[in-house]
Amino acid sequence: MADAREDDPHKFRRRGVLFVLSSPSGAGKSTIARKLLAAEPSLGMSVSATTRPMRPGEVDGKDYHFVDLERFREMVSNHEFLEWAHVFGHRYGTPRGPVEAMLKSGQDVLFDIDWQGAQQLYQIAGGDVVRVFVLPPSMEELHRRLTHRATDSMEVIEARMARAAAEVSHWDGYDYVLVNDDVERCFECVRTILAAERLKRSRQTGLIGFIRGLTTST
Ligand code: 5GP
Repeated sequence: MADAREDDPHKFRRRGVLFVLSSPSGAGKSTIARKLLAAEPSLGMSVSATTRPMRPGEVDGKDYHFVDLERFREMVSNHEFLEWAHVFGHRYGTPRGPVEAMLKSGQDVLFDIDWQGAQQLYQIAGGDVVRVFVLPPSMEELHRRLTHRATDSMEVIEARMARAAAEVSHWDGYDYVLVNDDVERCFECVRTILAAERLKRSRQTGLIGFIRGLTTST
């Protein structure tokens, strides 16, 4: 599904990368995603739609498109989602249009979605998808981070801890698994993965033309 772009070092056209970042909530994924977007101008963010209520500080259209259940169902039946899933009792989905537009304009796309989304995206776009899973250093540290964040009630935090254990069990559905014991180091690893994946031969659709030019000019 990915379109070709020309932003790599040798100006070969290449297929876009659908870069999935998943983790149990509180493992540091949002910080890493923010840093990655700031460092990589040719990476766009997929903003999901969700039926969950907005949290303090969140912005509609930036963090999520906050929609009611009726609108979400309408989007599902209109095939407006690339993938969607039930998470923590709410529905979350990736709108198709903006992703296709970003790929077409030459951007790679970053997805902050769970393992169900990663799996569905992989079924649709296979080799264009790169799946990275970020683990917390320990469950104790995860609990500390969730409590420290103070945006959720204790009940929600306990539910997220239970859910985190289940999410971790899906580590083998990912291409890369990282432990976030140092956010700066983890970010650098994620950035390195993106750089290497962009350079993969299978994505360099313009390489054949370049090779032909090389071999015919001698
Ligand atoms: P939160 O409510 O804390 O923002 O997100 C809860 C979980 O939903 C996170 O694991 C996040 O990655 C996941 N999520 C967010 N958007 C989507 C989406 O569009 N699709 C899927 N499958 N998961 C999503």
